[in-house]
Amino acid sequence: MAKKKVQIKKKTQAKKKVQPKKKVQAKKKLQPKKKEEIRFIGKVTKIRQTEPRTVIEWPRSLTHVHTYGLLSPFFKGLREGKLMATRCPNNKCAEKRLWLPPRAHCPDCHTEMVWETLPNPVIGKIYTFTEVVYAGIGIELSTPYWQVDVELPGLATIPKSYLLYGKPYIGMKVKAEFRTKRPTNTILDYYWVPYEQ
Ligand SMILES: [Zn+2]
Repeated sequence: MAKKKVQIKKKTQAKKKVQPKKKVQAKKKLQPKKKEEIRFIGKVTKIRQTEPRTVIEWPRSLTHVHTYGLLSPFFKGLREGKLMATRCPNNKCAEKRLWLPPRAHCPDCHTEMVWETLPNPVIGKIYTFTEVVYAGIGIELSTPYWQVDVELPGLATIPKSYLLYGKPYIGMKVKAEFRTKRPTNTILDYYWVPYEQ
């Protein structure tokens, strides 16, 4: 009995001594921390359903920062109503023709290419075409549209773009046009229109 009494007394003393110290220390430490407290800065999601399982609506948006790098002259050209292609300046290279879409370096000999502007009007022939009914995410053209591959004289490539209006057929003559007013600054800034002499 006597032992128990002593123990209780010790506990009471300990509490009395510790409590005031703890309170003061805790307050001093917590106050500056509040300013640095991590905050939620997102938008609260909407709950669509909770049964049989929780489903939330979480809208996402992002800015994709992209450089055209050495191909920048091509996009500058589109804004100015010009189609710009590249040619390998290496005399020893077997490929003498122009590349469009441009290549910064020759795919055959890896020499840095030189720029050339295709003389306007750029007239080509439809090599083949596809009707795009369901475009993938990120395609910013109304559907359906005609994707056309156009053969141009002096090119090593058959560039792909779209026909602004009309119905394509193989061998159809088309002329390049440019979206110089409110350009998208993407490959969509040039397209083809039917060309009749
Ligand atoms: Zn080359």
